[in-house]
Amino acid sequence: MIDERSAGAVVFYMEDNSEPEYLLLHYSAGHWDFPKGNIETGENEKQTATREIQEETCITDVEFLDGFRMKVEYKYRHGKKLVRKEVVLYLARAHTRKVILSHEHIGFAWRKFDDAMQQLTYLNAKNLLSSAKKYLQQRSFAYR
Ligand code: ATP
Repeated sequence: MIDERSAGAVVFYMEDNSEPEYLLLHYSAGHWDFPKGNIETGENEKQTATREIQEETCITDVEFLDGFRMKVEYKYRHGKKLVRKEVVLYLARAHTRKVILSHEHIGFAWRKFDDAMQQLTYLNAKNLLSSAKKYLQQRSFAYR
């Protein structure tokens, strides 16, 4: 079994008093998920998340919301090997909706909560998005 660790973020964009839109990426393997990537030696999780957002979307202007840090765990097969993966996700506000994709993904979408829930492929990612929405609502961050 191989262990893999990634970090990333639920990135959202929100104009004053409007509903947040969440950034989803279309992975070439077929799934829709959040920006994320492998934690490299010497990096902490937030540094990885910042770098991955930048590499995958070209968004550099993000503000991490304190106190939100969640984990998603899954296993997948890579050839004959089984990979056990842990992904740490933060919550980050983007101040732009302009995305330039890298070669790693085949599409992106800014989606309001209900549509994002439909579009995300995996249940664990949907659960995480629900937690992010609750977090924003509790802090009166989001629309009412
Ligand atoms: P990273 O963005 O961390 O570099 P990656 O693009 O190499 O990741 P993953 O997105 O982890 O790869 O996808 C690897 C495999 O795991 C794919 O087959 C994918 O369908 C599956 N997978 C991805 N996310 C989940 C999840 N949340 N739950 C279960 N399986 C997942």
